[in-house]
Amino acid sequence: MNPTQCAVEAITPLTPFVQRVLLRPEQPVTFLPGQYLQLCLTEQDKRPFSLACTPDSQLLELHIGGSKADEYSSQALNYLMQQQQAGQPVCIEGGLGQAFLRAERDNPIVLLAGGTGFSYIYSLAQALQQQGQNRPVFLYWGVREESSLYLQQQLASWASSQPGFRFIPVVQEPEASWQGRTGLVHQAVLDDFVSLDAYDIYIAGPFPMVGMARDAFLQQGAHREQMFADAFAYI
Ligand SMILES: Cc1cc2nc3c(=O)[nH]c(=O)nc-3n(C[C@H](O)[C@H](O)[C@H](O)COP(=O)(O)OP(=O)(O)OC[C@H]3O[C@@H](n4cnc5c(N)ncnc54)[C@H](O)[C@@H]3O)c2cc1C
Repeated sequence: MNPTQCAVEAITPLTPFVQRVLLRPEQPVTFLPGQYLQLCLTEQDKRPFSLACTPDSQLLELHIGGSKADEYSSQALNYLMQQQQAGQPVCIEGGLGQAFLRAERDNPIVLLAGGTGFSYIYSLAQALQQQGQNRPVFLYWGVREESSLYLQQQLASWASSQPGFRFIPVVQEPEASWQGRTGLVHQAVLDDFVSLDAYDIYIAGPFPMVGMARDAFLQQGAHREQMFADAFAYI
């Protein structure tokens, strides 16, 4: 994989802990919806981040962070900010990963995001919109607090304008004012589908969530070859 130099175009907050990062690559970067890139902090320290954009984008978009500050993302963000302030490029490698969108298939789709796993799911959802597919899409996004649903309004607007697209936000620790679904996001999927036999399922989020979802979905009729998650390689 050839490294590509990128200028750090912008870093803007999506929540107190999650930042949107826009990178301008010096050469075009080829990738498929749902793939990730590696940000090279050093020659040895390369960290994967999902691309939140579609392949036709001029800028590469990342969503970096989590429900709380952690070293994985804070070190990457500090590095990106330092390079931006110094006017220096960063090095990336990508697109990488096997959990890209299988656009040729016609099964209905479950998109399952935990926290910033949403970055990956957002790329897939945008690609499905662009392709104008008629496949039913059920997008579940689980977060600890409602304030972490940083693109909630856009997704609700897609759901109200497109009959085949459903958006189900799930808040784990809701305020009294929250009127939507609560609990763990993979459990919401289990509650909604008697069988997952017919579905293509794309998953991203914290590794314990991905593992629990995979095992529980298989019990509920899902097929391993119809489930896609790059985290499977890590758990
Ligand atoms: C290929 C790859 C790509 C990555 N891309 C990114 C990226 O783009 N951005 C980034 O910041 N990091 C990325 N990471 C790192 C890592 O996946 C994220 O840091 C992580 O998903 C962040 O989770 P969170 O804190 O947002 O979720 P949390 O807030 O911890 O959890 C969100 C929801 O997930 C569910 N959940 C959480 N824990 C459990 C559990 N134990 N059991 C069941 N359900 C649970 C709940 O519904 C919860 O509300 C990537 C890692 C890999 C390997």
